[in-house]
Amino acid sequence: MTAAVSRLLLAGGTIHDPANDRDGVVADIWIEDGRIIAPPADPRGFTRIDASGLVVMPGGVDLHSHVAGPKVNAGRRIAPQLARQRPAAVPTIHATGAAYAALGYTTVFDAAIATAAARIAHTELADLPILDKGIYLLAADEAAVIAAVARNEARETARLVGDAIAAGRGWAVKVANPGGAAFWKHGRRGDHHDLDTPLPEHPALTPRLLLDRLVTAVETLGLPHPLHVHTANLGLPGNWRSLLETMKTFAGRRAHLAHVQFHSYSGGDLDEGSFGSGVAPLVEFFNAHDSLTLDVGQILFGDTVAMTGDAAAAEHLAHATGMPWMAHDLHLEGGCGVLPIAYREKSMVHAWQWAIGLEWFLTTTDPWRVALSTDHPNGAHFTAYPHLMQLLGDAAFRRAAFDRIHPAVRRRSPLKDLSREYTLQELCIITRAAPARIAGLPHKGHLGIGADADITLYRPDRDLARMFSMPAKVFKAGVLVAEDGHLRAAPSGHTLASRPVTP
Ligand SMILES: [Zn+2]
Repeated sequence: MTAAVSRLLLAGGTIHDPANDRDGVVADIWIEDGRIIAPPADPRGFTRIDASGLVVMPGGVDLHSHVAGPKVNAGRRIAPQLARQRPAAVPTIHATGAAYAALGYTTVFDAAIATAAARIAHTELADLPILDKGIYLLAADEAAVIAAVARNEARETARLVGDAIAAGRGWAVKVANPGGAAFWKHGRRGDHHDLDTPLPEHPALTPRLLLDRLVTAVETLGLPHPLHVHTANLGLPGNWRSLLETMKTFAGRRAHLAHVQFHSYSGGDLDEGSFGSGVAPLVEFFNAHDSLTLDVGQILFGDTVAMTGDAAAAEHLAHATGMPWMAHDLHLEGGCGVLPIAYREKSMVHAWQWAIGLEWFLTTTDPWRVALSTDHPNGAHFTAYPHLMQLLGDAAFRRAAFDRIHPAVRRRSPLKDLSREYTLQELCIITRAAPARIAGLPHKGHLGIGADADITLYRPDRDLARMFSMPAKVFKAGVLVAEDGHLRAAPSGHTLASRPVTP
């Protein structure tokens, strides 16, 4: 089914458009040729859609997900039993697009594709319907880039990174465990304690210097999204110090911190009793430094598949859980690890992870620097976003969930004292307005004149999970693509590729 209508009037909806300072105002939205336009002098020829009583928001933007490429396919192979879940833990590429659209999302980025796998990822993404989509390339894992960084050749570093982005049609540069693959491939994982350990083969280069020089390269190239950073020591007790040092390294420069929940743990190695939240000092630093942005990487309880460009972290997790795992892409420059994982509310570690993610959401002061994510499928499936939105917007619902988790976490987590509830406007910011701005998409995440007509209409409901899980109508570029959970059309989305400036 294709849409014949290119001129629409969404009449009388309740508009949530934080980028244009509209918080629940009743207004009309006019659409022509896939864009939002000013009210036309001649309204004839516009199809009127009654939006009265409905909440109108820009389409959702997921700036950190994993939906294509070799490690997603490895995820499908390693956990075939999870393919029978509804939704499948790692859906097919077509089902991924359909489920995102039915949820009101219209843009998605895969956050970790090895440069040499870019063509595979784009081939698959061509089959992901409806959404606009892009990839972040692990462009800094290439040996030639690391060598140029080690020689402190800024121009050559930027040229190599820019070439990778252009050839791989990437949107941004992702770094996963800076320098970590080098340690791991040399069998020296244990040597990699912090950001200041020299890399194997490059004694003058540390992860900290690598991060610093890559930020410079991304700035030189004028990429729309800042360096996307998954820092060292993911998942390890005591790793909050690595995240704090990472934030200090950027000192006033733009950088995006990925899935901070996985990097915010107190405690010492193998000492479960001391494991806990390291969020407070991190949030204090983050709140005071406007150039930094983040996504949370919330975990939610249930079965899923972990997949990461940080093979060392996957290996550690496999040893800790006894699950089978898969490492691959080592013939390419990026390393990836994949394994099934089941998050349980009675597990102390999992309960801490859950509480730590929510603590981040509830103690950051500026929603414009925060993107809602579960690091799909690592922390949870993206179809669980409405449940997460209810945890943020409904303190009583969150309290009931809190009362079911491991008792040691209930006693010690700062979450027990946090009563903040996200407003509809704030939920709108962290699911579309902020991620669009952070990702560098001026035509998305808002409903102003000239914006892409990516628009989601919800029925207002005190049950936020119900409200956000089934939009009444979803438009992509002005085409009705979903209605009450049913797919109405599946037009192709666009590939979002940035154009690096030649250094
Ligand atoms: Zn990720």
